[in-house]
Amino acid sequence: MIIKKNKTKIVATLGPVSRDEKIIEEMILSGATMFRINTSHNTPEEHAETIEKIRNVEKRLKTFIPVLVDLQGPKIRVGNLIEPIPLEPGKELVLEYGLEQTDPNIVPVDYKGVAEDVHVGECILLDDGKIKIEVTKKEGTKVHVKVLHGELLKPRKGINIPGGTKSVSAITERDVDFIKFAVDNGADYLALSFVRDKDDIMLAKKYLSHFGADIPIVAKIEKPEAVKNIESILDVVDAVMVARGDLGIELAPEKVPMVQKQIVDAAFAHRKTCIVATQMLESMIEEPIPTRAEASDVANAILDGADAVMLSGETAAGKYPVESVKMMAMIAHDVEQSNFVSYNLDLPMNPMYEPTPQAIAAAAVKMAKDLEAKAILAFTHTGYTPKLLSKLRPSVPVLAISDNEKTCRKLNLFWDMHPYQKDWDVVLNDELLKKIDKLLLEKTEYKKDDRVIIIGSIPNLITGRTNFVRVHRMCAF
Ligand code: PEP
Repeated sequence: MIIKKNKTKIVATLGPVSRDEKIIEEMILSGATMFRINTSHNTPEEHAETIEKIRNVEKRLKTFIPVLVDLQGPKIRVGNLIEPIPLEPGKELVLEYGLEQTDPNIVPVDYKGVAEDVHVGECILLDDGKIKIEVTKKEGTKVHVKVLHGELLKPRKGINIPGGTKSVSAITERDVDFIKFAVDNGADYLALSFVRDKDDIMLAKKYLSHFGADIPIVAKIEKPEAVKNIESILDVVDAVMVARGDLGIELAPEKVPMVQKQIVDAAFAHRKTCIVATQMLESMIEEPIPTRAEASDVANAILDGADAVMLSGETAAGKYPVESVKMMAMIAHDVEQSNFVSYNLDLPMNPMYEPTPQAIAAAAVKMAKDLEAKAILAFTHTGYTPKLLSKLRPSVPVLAISDNEKTCRKLNLFWDMHPYQKDWDVVLNDELLKKIDKLLLEKTEYKKDDRVIIIGSIPNLITGRTNFVRVHRMCAF
């Protein structure tokens, strides 16, 4: 079965409408390349079943589909209310830690640090920003607030404290259980919500190593503190997600477009994968076609340099999950065929990476362009050099050959990266070149005499990582 292959990767969130093998298969065939499991909803047992379904389809389609387990993080919520509270500008309320409303004059908040972390004059947002309140006074554990806008406060609505939530750990007890779940169920990426700084990432790494795994981490950038600390966060994560849902609440919607560009650019400088997420085709939750503004949003995220774009409610709970993936793939295809995408980037060497693989990746990209090669073929064990290659945006696809199934899955999040699992000895003799030709003739449309740039690591040369680059002409021997 031919799977549609775009350069831009598509992350689809699974939920009640799509936790089904047939829908998962249709989404992959339509262009989905990674699935997100949102641990804010459902039980671990249900998520384990969903992952099993993904693996079944992946095997059937002979492809590699990474699974992203997304931790809820310290999402703060209003507790249970006796009844919804009508609001109007100027109305005064009192917030205090609690899960149930016992006093009609006090709004319970399920966060113990609420009185510690807010400051007089600061604004707090509730119910996805529909309600805005300002702190007027702090009195022990009580926080007095005044309503700025909003009409009705309902129970269990989310609360965003843009000024910071220092008293709460970025990884809650529930998250720790889901980190173990991610390890036990072979997750390929782990997303952390409401990250503030690199210490939050380091803490997640500690838990992962405690559970005996090293799953690549995606930091969801959705707090102003994370935007401020983006450079140091990028030093230690594998990928970032511009999580525009909460980011747009904590920062204000008008700030999101430029922050998105800033994060995408910073991810290039650090050679880290960048996913742009949320409300990309939001109206497709209800309608079979998106608004023109949404189509432009997907296109512009790709033009900004996103490696992947993400669907949330559209595929998790919408009426048109498969159509949403198809639409996103069609938009990506059109952008990729245009003259507006930047290729062959001349990024300066980054001291965080070994110099030889960086130089070889840059050389391969230049050679592919100058020699009009059809592809770059990268032998890889861990995916280290392919990631460097991908961020240089070669003008041709990168075919990555790895002996490792987990690496193949991980690679499928990188821009224009196409993994194949082969347990081949990287010795550049006729036997290997014949195998390469056979693979290319079977799996691609390349023909005899087409050029391919091969990179990889031959043991005993200068470094253990990528250490050679070679031009190959197909069937030339
Ligand atoms: C977001 O806030 O944009 C996001 C991706 O997070 P979630 O869907 O988990 O709220």
